[in-house]
Amino acid sequence: MNQQIIRLPKALHSEVTAHLFPDEGPQPERAAFLLANRVEGKDRGIFLGYRLVVVPEDAYLEKADDFLQVKSEFICEVARMAAAESAYLIELHSHPGCVRKVGFSRLDCAGQARFQKYLTYKLGGPPWGALVFGRESVSGSVWLPGTESSLEARVQIVGENWQEFSNSQEPVSLRFDRQQVFGLQAQRALASMKIGLVGLRPLHKAQILEETPFAFDFR
Ligand SMILES: [Zn+2]
Repeated sequence: MNQQIIRLPKALHSEVTAHLFPDEGPQPERAAFLLANRVEGKDRGIFLGYRLVVVPEDAYLEKADDFLQVKSEFICEVARMAAAESAYLIELHSHPGCVRKVGFSRLDCAGQARFQKYLTYKLGGPPWGALVFGRESVSGSVWLPGTESSLEARVQIVGENWQEFSNSQEPVSLRFDRQQVFGLQAQRALASMKIGLVGLRPLHKAQILEETPFAFDFR
């Protein structure tokens, strides 16, 4: 089975959550895109997010507590931006009412299927990812070329500590940190983690490709 992973550096993840869940003001759904690199392994594909592209207020066609639609002109602009950088796209949005468990809605899935058709038509169908964030949870899926349905993706937040979210499991709190290392929550996190790695340094694409065989230390 081809395993799909969406990996975000912790700093980028913090930027994402600050955009999706601001401390003050109304909390409608919000959206953004990530530009990502992709590493294709023998039995897994990994998206490595590297830059956040926020959807500005005037690029929403509609925005409510539980629904949003982004103008297609803006989506075209982001797709062009990705193509210019040879980057891949990860679409993301929030479900502000969800806390410890979150998943794509039927509307989300229908929108993604349309986006898949659009990318196939416009850009020849590159792989792309989608993320939906609750306040302390995230679920991901990946679309591969020529497919009409998505694959579930593991989501990894990479920093001093690794965090991994799998759609089918109870998510681990995003507030997991050193202070909680001996807490119940941390134990559950450690028990469900498949990776052990300390530290992260910025990598260039070439380095990532070079270091790929060593970076994947799955047990
Ligand atoms: Zn949604």
